[in-house]
Amino acid sequence: MTLPQHHDIVVIGAGIAGSSIASELLERGQAVCIIDSAPHPASACSSHAYAIAHPHVGRGAPRLLRLTRIAFLIAEARWGKVWNQHGIFQPNKKDKVFNRDDVAGYLRSLDLDEGMAQALDANDAMRACGISQDGIWLPRGASLNLFEATQDALAPHPKLTCSWNTPVARLEKVNAGWQLIDPHDRPIMIAGKVIIATALETKKLAASIDVRLPLRPVRGQLSIFSIDENSSWAARLPHTAISGDGYCLPAKKLPDGNYQWIVGSSFDEGESDLRDWDASDDFNREQARGLLNYEHGDLSQLQKSGSFVGVRCVAGDRLPIIGALTQRPGIFLATALGSRGALWSALAAKLITTQVLEDDFALLARLGFAADLVAALAPARFFAGALAAAPALGAFASNSKPILPSAPKAR
Ligand SMILES: Cc1cc2nc3c(=O)[nH]c(=O)nc-3n(C[C@H](O)[C@H](O)[C@H](O)COP(=O)(O)OP(=O)(O)OC[C@H]3O[C@@H](n4cnc5c(N)ncnc54)[C@H](O)[C@@H]3O)c2cc1C
Repeated sequence: MTLPQHHDIVVIGAGIAGSSIASELLERGQAVCIIDSAPHPASACSSHAYAIAHPHVGRGAPRLLRLTRIAFLIAEARWGKVWNQHGIFQPNKKDKVFNRDDVAGYLRSLDLDEGMAQALDANDAMRACGISQDGIWLPRGASLNLFEATQDALAPHPKLTCSWNTPVARLEKVNAGWQLIDPHDRPIMIAGKVIIATALETKKLAASIDVRLPLRPVRGQLSIFSIDENSSWAARLPHTAISGDGYCLPAKKLPDGNYQWIVGSSFDEGESDLRDWDASDDFNREQARGLLNYEHGDLSQLQKSGSFVGVRCVAGDRLPIIGALTQRPGIFLATALGSRGALWSALAAKLITTQVLEDDFALLARLGFAADLVAALAPARFFAGALAAAPALGAFASNSKPILPSAPKAR
């Protein structure tokens, strides 16, 4: 009998998470084997071509603020090739009074300089980005095609092995590390270290080694609208992206004179249906009105020309799960990227590589990555012992059961 192949480092899942991690490890001189059940990379949620990326600047989530800021800077540097910087405008919520000086002071208190975030009243916003609403202008905000980014990260490399059409059903501890086993109970390979980046499927793989993760699906649909050049919407279409209740990309003028405008996205808790829903387009039409503050816009003029449907994986506390699974040495997780795949995958690449290589954490610290932030992302936050391991996370610690946090705020 031939022994299964052995690889020092195996990444399961070739979405944006797994591919970013693989690429960072390759850059650090490591040999990597990446495995996916699909015939090519970015077949699932990372087939998304219209993802936006910006640091979170809302109030009341200090860790999220710090984490997204670090992640944004890493993502900007990582995704340079496919990074499409056009700026993102974040309108003030309709029910909130906007005081420009207050908001400017708040942004300064976050150490966000004007190159990163500016408080603008409607007149200044009109001048800066063509949107006549009070809000925050994020000039470095960008969009990117996650499919291209994923493909790019897995470009041929002498130390990269790709294994397509290879579903992993479970993991088993063996002397030399971890055995990967297929759905017919046949061994696939043995790995010294395994990084699981299989979005929702991470739940099953973790369960196979007796670790329960509180992951759940949130379906989402983006609508691609076609708008006649003579429509009343045409003059209002944005030249920048807007992120508020939903988001949209800058409208694009097509050769026939009409516009293409991408608006999203719906969020359907607990749903995994990948079919296109008319109800989601209707929802997105309403979001379009809200984003442009165009209450009386005729929704029938937003003609559907296409869509993207995906299922996000979320962990409920709105933070991704990134880090070593300390109770199963040699296993690392990068999942629950929610609606921030572009940012969290870039951050996962740095964090997981540091942990896999047992590097000096000084590099992460230089990026602003303090121990409390590492702990906030760690799988251990859901399990018994979290209190002792990370006192700052006391609220998450319980006895023997994973904690199912409150409802997520998906985009
Ligand atoms: C409507 C919508 C809008 C979004 N908007 C944005 C946005 O504006 N900005 C942003 O940053 N993000 C956005 N996202 C989120 C982003 O798309 C995801 O966070 C990201 O694509 C998740 O990447 P992933 O690598 O974790 O998962 P996936 O891309 O799902 O990759 C998981 C991979 O694992 C493989 N796999 C699964 N199980 C197994 C197994 N047992 N064995 C082997 N392989 C397996 C799959 O084939 C797949 O290739 C949006 C998502 C949706 C749905």
